Amino acid sequence: MNIRIYPDPLLRQKAKPLTEINKEVHQKVEEMIELMYEANGIGLAAPQVGWSVRLFIIDADGDKNEEKVFINPTIIEETGEVNKEEGCLSFPGIMSKVIRAQRIRAHAYNLKGQKLEIEAEGLVARAWQHELDHLNGSLFIDRMNPANRVSISHQLKEFERSYKGIQIPV
Ligand code: ZN
Repeated sequence: MNIRIYPDPLLRQKAKPLTEINKEVHQKVEEMIELMYEANGIGLAAPQVGWSVRLFIIDADGDKNEEKVFINPTIIEETGEVNKEEGCLSFPGIMSKVIRAQRIRAHAYNLKGQKLEIEAEGLVARAWQHELDHLNGSLFIDRMNPANRVSISHQLKEFERSYKGIQIPV
């Protein structure tokens, strides 16, 4: 498992709901958590590691007791608006301002199959919106305003130049 870097086409796929939580799911989630911490990220969506299911992990506050794994998530309410710097593990080195809702209310399931009711604001709410976008094949560059998008266009071109295609394990 490795983190897919833009412009990997898997990042543009709409992910499918997860219908069964089995041993393989637990193993993949463990690997995702390791990868996220190694890369110093606060969130990672399954499609970013080439796994096209509706699951993401978020650890924005380092609280060990908080739920980190969110399965089949839905945002049911968004309020307020904040324009803040945001990054993405699939775009190493790029930071740009993106407008997001300040607060969200959401549903998801945890690894035990229990339904979670989530209320979040600030950084956690931002991470939720960013990771949910990944499940729909949407990326933070899509949400940047034209000026910000132009300011990072040379970095995007560099990613496109160095992209070697989909790697198939042999
Ligand atoms: Zn991302």
